[in-house]
Amino acid sequence: MNQIRQAPCMHCGYNGPGFHQPKTHPCAGKTDAELFLDYKSQITHLETLLGDIKDLFGEVNDIIKFDSEGEFETEWDERMHKAIQAAATELEKDDG
Ligand SMILES: [Zn+2]
Repeated sequence: MNQIRQAPCMHCGYNGPGFHQPKTHPCAGKTDAELFLDYKSQITHLETLLGDIKDLFGEVNDIIKFDSEGEFETEWDERMHKAIQAAATELEKDDG
């Protein structure tokens, strides 16, 4: 048995006109089971994104290291230094 739904929508937060019309508010045309599946797929999607973010920060944490004085050291130092020098050289060329 469907609960009577009231605005704001507990699934998407919609609180505007046409609340009970699927044309203006898609949740209105869905059963509770469908909304639950939508919700589950959104959670799965968010979990995937969160996993990607964790992986990314894991990689960053592996690369960036802090020395005893709290200054960060990175394996990229040499490459970054070369890239900055190359960029500075290019900028000097542009100025000249
Ligand atoms: Zn909704």
